[in-house]
Amino acid sequence: MKLTFFGACGEVTGSSYLVETAAARFLVDCGMFQGGAETARRNRAPFAFDPRTLDFVLLTHAHIDHSGLLPRLVAEGFKGPIYATAATCDLLSVMLPDSAYIQEKEADWMRESPTRRKEDATPLYTVREAEHALRQLKAVEYGAALEAHAQIRCRWLDAGHILGSALIEVKVTEDGTEKTIVFSGDLGQPMRPLVRDPTAIHHADVLLVESTYGNRRHKSMTETIQEFEHAIVDTLTRKGGNVIIPAFAVGRTQEALYLLGELYRQGRLPEMDIYVDSPLALKATEITLRHARLLDRESAALLAWLRKNPAGQRVHFVQDLEESIALHRVRKGAIIISASGMCEAGRIKHHLRHNLGRPECTIVITGFQAAGTLGRRIVDGAKEVRIFGIPVPVRADIYTIGGLSAHADQEALLQWLAHFRPPLPRTYVVHGEQETSEIFARAVRERLGWPLPVVPAPRSSVHL
Ligand code: ZN
Repeated sequence: MKLTFFGACGEVTGSSYLVETAAARFLVDCGMFQGGAETARRNRAPFAFDPRTLDFVLLTHAHIDHSGLLPRLVAEGFKGPIYATAATCDLLSVMLPDSAYIQEKEADWMRESPTRRKEDATPLYTVREAEHALRQLKAVEYGAALEAHAQIRCRWLDAGHILGSALIEVKVTEDGTEKTIVFSGDLGQPMRPLVRDPTAIHHADVLLVESTYGNRRHKSMTETIQEFEHAIVDTLTRKGGNVIIPAFAVGRTQEALYLLGELYRQGRLPEMDIYVDSPLALKATEITLRHARLLDRESAALLAWLRKNPAGQRVHFVQDLEESIALHRVRKGAIIISASGMCEAGRIKHHLRHNLGRPECTIVITGFQAAGTLGRRIVDGAKEVRIFGIPVPVRADIYTIGGLSAHADQEALLQWLAHFRPPLPRTYVVHGEQETSEIFARAVRERLGWPLPVVPAPRSSVHL
């Protein structure tokens, strides 16, 4: 059996791993690269394998850096099933067409720009192609064993990252011997809002573990929530500006709404208007409510309370572009949650342009900001950034609230690994920036006494 690492090696995007057994070839995740100058070229680079020869695809979760190249895979001839949890399938039904729509818009824009290269003027894939790929999705139940192919059995278990997210256990039988490969997907911090905690796994022969925050320790949830509360109360009551929260439409937006709702329920926030300015976020929120049985107990209790007390916290889902533009004129008292989460595209860029230069406003960064993104420049303390080519001074307060991250910190990752029993798995550290993955690999050796895990090079293969 051979495993090849195609993305998320020494970086956090482009997750994709190819497994080739005697009987089948399959991909685990088919993610898009995001952030950085080379992104467009890398997403267009030919697949290193023939998509027509794949038997199936397994998906850990809906985030575009794990799913965003599926439409290309299908357009280039992949005909097999794409297995994912039901909630992931629902999320993809809005996320992939949305991703395609962004590609189409960018291509339109490039076509009119004389300085751009020609190939950028065609979209990476179209809305039609995205919709075509959706037809190959097959929903699986959490915990149920799926025979994806003769001699290959898979199980999706809670990863505690976003709605529908899973770690995948794959059992492959070859020559009468069974081997278990565990793909961690993206693992959430235990106790985080909305989703249940990651499932403890006790056995694997081979393990791929993410390491987004493998070098860091998040603040405690209590401290994190206090910081979030302070950012909002200070801005609305003392400074008199707006609070801008860049957030992935899927996952982070619903968590921000959960926190705002919970703090309001506890009497820690005043009455307020919250604008969720992303059509995708409305759809994702509806999908979250549809899968409410997957939510943790605290979220279910809050939802019940908010239904009984709907008046004080007014959540407006902004759909039309005109309504979004009207928000640019709101000078104070608004909480604006908008996408994209790393400030690279979408309506958030306009809200930043109108609020970043004003000291009475506050930007609350709650998610990971990849190298090369506008969000990362803001987090890194840039005094001025360019938005749509226009220089914008950074005068608003910037809060980076790491404890809300959708990814487990070093401590939580080590605790999750500590559930494995001997014989310990052969371990590969993926989905982290190079230095972070290396630091995490050393922590696994030093703190858990495991053999030093490998940080695989991009496009490298191993025989298992
Ligand atoms: Zn993710």
